[in-house]
Amino acid sequence: WVKAPPTLRDLFRIAQGHGDRTFVVYRDERVTFTGFSRAATALARALTAAGIEKGDRVAIAMRNLPEWPVSYFGALLAGAIATPLNAWWTGPELAYGLRHSGARVLIADGERFTRIAPHLGECPALQRVLTTRMEPDPRATPLSDLVGPPADWAGLPDAPPPDIALGPEDDATLFYTSGTTGQPKGAVGTHRAAATTVMAYPYSAARTYLRRGESPPKPDPSAPQRVALLVIPLFHVTGCHASLGAALYGGHRLVMMHRWDASAALDLIEAEGCTSAGGVPTIAWQLATAAREAGRPLPSLDAITYGGAPAAGDLVRTLGAVLPRVVPGTGWGMTETSATFTHHQGEDYLAHPDSCGPPLPVCEVRIVDPLGEALPPGAVGELCVKGPNVVRGYWNDPDATADVFSEGWLRTGDLARADAEGFLTIVDRIKDMLIRGGENIYCCEVENALYAHPDVIDAVVLPVPHPTLGEEPGAIVVLAEGAATSPEAIRAFAAERLAAFKVPVRIVVWDGLLPRNPAGKVLRASLRSIFAEPSDQYGSPP
Ligand code: ATP
Ligand code: MG
Repeated sequence: WVKAPPTLRDLFRIAQGHGDRTFVVYRDERVTFTGFSRAATALARALTAAGIEKGDRVAIAMRNLPEWPVSYFGALLAGAIATPLNAWWTGPELAYGLRHSGARVLIADGERFTRIAPHLGECPALQRVLTTRMEPDPRATPLSDLVGPPADWAGLPDAPPPDIALGPEDDATLFYTSGTTGQPKGAVGTHRAAATTVMAYPYSAARTYLRRGESPPKPDPSAPQRVALLVIPLFHVTGCHASLGAALYGGHRLVMMHRWDASAALDLIEAEGCTSAGGVPTIAWQLATAAREAGRPLPSLDAITYGGAPAAGDLVRTLGAVLPRVVPGTGWGMTETSATFTHHQGEDYLAHPDSCGPPLPVCEVRIVDPLGEALPPGAVGELCVKGPNVVRGYWNDPDATADVFSEGWLRTGDLARADAEGFLTIVDRIKDMLIRGGENIYCCEVENALYAHPDVIDAVVLPVPHPTLGEEPGAIVVLAEGAATSPEAIRAFAAERLAAFKVPVRIVVWDGLLPRNPAGKVLRASLRSIFAEPSDQYGSPP
């Protein structure tokens, strides 16, 4: 019924078939599938002519722009390993990514170029820098010298891409993890791994139909074009493999947001007739809140999908109340699984609101104890995963690779439980779990109990050192505007929902938004110091 293209070049061929449909909308710019594919082909030919060979790394450092997919496929069609760098990184961090990957070419937008320029000398493998959206600079070649400006892409010659042998097991991408638990790791994935994720939603939908004993409907080519609001950065696997990949496969239009802003998102969804939106759970939450406050029902929108960080069961209930026409979907994945690994939506999700769904039908999971023994349904243990979308390892790091990859299985570092039907619930990262006098406390569970309080709009649970128990849970909460509650009242609320040993001993009210990395994950490490000193006082942040 649904079959993943074996390589990203096959996906590119499928995308070419969408012709004059609009592919990318960015501010007042519009690029068709033809324009995109001709520019990517022109770039690939230029890279090959400049000596780029199969397996070379081509780094991309830019915000979401029409040039992003062109740079990515330009690199892939030249046989290179596309190496997206985090657009939030500072100059030295970008230099680290270039050195670590050994990139020979960097394609950057003006802002990233300004950051990296003083560090170019620290990247000995780098031979060429291509830039876009900036004044010419003697250290770089404008990308438009090779492919012209976006408005002219559709008029480029219809040339074939370089003739390079590419197979499903060849390396395609080198993506950096979010760096939530330490130094970002470079996950190197094959064409097959990336191309598998493109099919995550069809696979997931097909599984639902098959379970009901029905056949999945055939795609209808005459159906109106799907229009996705793209909020997630393309330098993340979810933005790239899931959102961009699905758009290329299905001929969807991607509306790139310049900068996340919930009320601007409402405007864009209405102006562009977006049918879907997604991102991390906070974004879905902010979108629902903004729509409710503004009384805007967003009639074009029929799907919201999120993942990448814990989503409280309350989120799906809020979405249902505010935007009843929208089918909510959620999933779990990591850079090392090329994004989506589990997914469910609609009725399945509503029936399992705390679950991130079952694994895609082409994937397998195992929940294991610390000795690696498989645990029965319902038991919490480390989630281990296997499937065609799992990357082959960490770039140039055999030790880190051997630590977690073995015999096709990846140890994820996440704690989860699976029910008898295979629906998974992530309970915590192993590194975040608290142990209070020998009792395990999963931060996500405590956070969810806090989220259930109507005035709590964000929460993070962290260890409070204790001389004999080791650590106890403490919480930092963000309250809704004008909320009249107190830390004591929130603690009492949590105490009604949690076993006594899990109830936060300290609750701090945070002013403003919690610090998050670009993947939307709370920067726990930067917040730990708030509880560094033992204390039984409630308080406010310093
Ligand atoms: P690093 O590996 O560098 O510490 P990271 O793990 O945050 O950073 P990513 O690969 O972007 O980098 O994120 C994957 C992780 O995100 C997962 O291992 C999991 O902890 C978390 N995650 C993803 N989806 C979900 C979800 N639906 N629910 C809870 N956690 C999730
Ligand atoms: Mg990780």
